[in-house]
Amino acid sequence: MNSLRIKIRHLLVQGETGKEVCIMGWVRSKRESKKVTFLTVNDGSTIHHMQVVVDLEKFSEDTLKQIHTGAAVKVTGTLVESVGRGQRVEIRASDIEVYGTADPETYPLQKKGHSLEFLREIAHLRPRTNTFGAVLRIRHAMAYAIHKYFNDRGFYYMHTPIITASDAEGAGEMFRVTTLDMEQPPRTPEGKVDYSKDFFGKETKLTVSGQLEGELGALALSEIYTFGPTFRAENSNTPRHLAEFWMIEPEMAFYDIHDNMDLAEDFLKFLVRYAMEHCTDDLEFLNQMYDKELLSRLQFILDNEFVRMGYTEAMDILVKSGQKWEFPVQWGSDLQAEHERFLVEKHFRKPVMLTDYPMEIKAFYMKQNKDGKTVRALDVLFPRIGEIIGGSQREENYEALHRRIHEMGLPMKDLWWYLDTRRFGTAPHSGFGLGFERLILFITGMSNIRDVIPFPRTPRNAEF
Ligand code: ATP
Ligand code: MN
Repeated sequence: MNSLRIKIRHLLVQGETGKEVCIMGWVRSKRESKKVTFLTVNDGSTIHHMQVVVDLEKFSEDTLKQIHTGAAVKVTGTLVESVGRGQRVEIRASDIEVYGTADPETYPLQKKGHSLEFLREIAHLRPRTNTFGAVLRIRHAMAYAIHKYFNDRGFYYMHTPIITASDAEGAGEMFRVTTLDMEQPPRTPEGKVDYSKDFFGKETKLTVSGQLEGELGALALSEIYTFGPTFRAENSNTPRHLAEFWMIEPEMAFYDIHDNMDLAEDFLKFLVRYAMEHCTDDLEFLNQMYDKELLSRLQFILDNEFVRMGYTEAMDILVKSGQKWEFPVQWGSDLQAEHERFLVEKHFRKPVMLTDYPMEIKAFYMKQNKDGKTVRALDVLFPRIGEIIGGSQREENYEALHRRIHEMGLPMKDLWWYLDTRRFGTAPHSGFGLGFERLILFITGMSNIRDVIPFPRTPRNAEF
């Protein structure tokens, strides 16, 4: 069926004029004049459309009647130099086959621009818009670049479980996974739900992070990374939170916090550079349509060394800044996006990496500092996004880790396997988590995280 078919991206860049070619795609627009009709066709391979010139003498009215915005077509014809502006080449059609029509009365994606809010309601069709074509291509390129980055450096891609029985990750509220009859769950003699009767014989949830299992991998393979879906049932309706999102979590044995920071900075710069080199057309489109500062913001990441600073010093800057905050600042409180963005956008005008956060606001597994108050956490802060990476050096000392789990009242019995690594051949190690959609938000300049994943999952929304 498509032996002759060539992707539009290829034809536009290096198609030879005079040759017979065939494209398949979806009609984006139809413009009629006396003798010819102009179609623009897009097949998803590029932000640019192929212009097709249809000579009315050569085609029956019947065929032309079927072709509207949204129709799927096969166009065969000769590639010729384009006389019109805007494209190097166009196709003079000799044959058009219509695979599927799209009724102009009901097809929602007519040529005019639609609001991003409206497009969310038709997420099944929005990949056919310029914007989502660009976002989805960039998303793909970034996923590929992530695997390339780690593969080229000897990291192994490790698959950590999606279903977990450990409640200790502490990164957020979790979704329950069960096959029990919700109407009439089995009960224990005390009247509680009896999870021993559930599918796994215990309570299970969807994972919030692959880190704990990732550590097990790093303590055998030296350097691993995960790249998979994670789930958080936090009821936070913000432009930066999803209930289902993808996370990249490298974990490295024999890395301290400084090695961890070096990797985080190099990794992020690599990804930004990769996007600028490989997604040029899509980025230029987004820069023009949504965010005139996008390209310069990307360049800003490449041009600047990230600031490295302790939480305490950063807190000092925030307290003395004289800014009016929505959330108050004082030593011991967590940084909110407004504080993070102030440091990056106003104070330093550079990306910032903060370390040594108060122990009380960070997870149990982070390496405890000698001061007894702080841990070797690492947050990487970006313009517009705030926290894009969260990580730490991990506590490798058995006693210190055991004490912390106990202090925090975490279920020791669920963590025996994790503690075992500190009993057998423990070693300093570090890692971090990069939220994939936060990265894509930054790279595309989109402002809502719902617009950088094909089918967003947020509170009260699981359509499609
Ligand atoms: P935040 O404070 O922004 O809610 P967090 O501290 O809860 O994030 P971590 O547990 O450190 O997040 O997760 C690691 C990374 O995963 C974050 O740096 C961020 O990039 C991303 N992330 C966290 N929660 C979400 C979410 N609900 N939706 C999308 N990405 C997220
Ligand atoms: Mn975090």
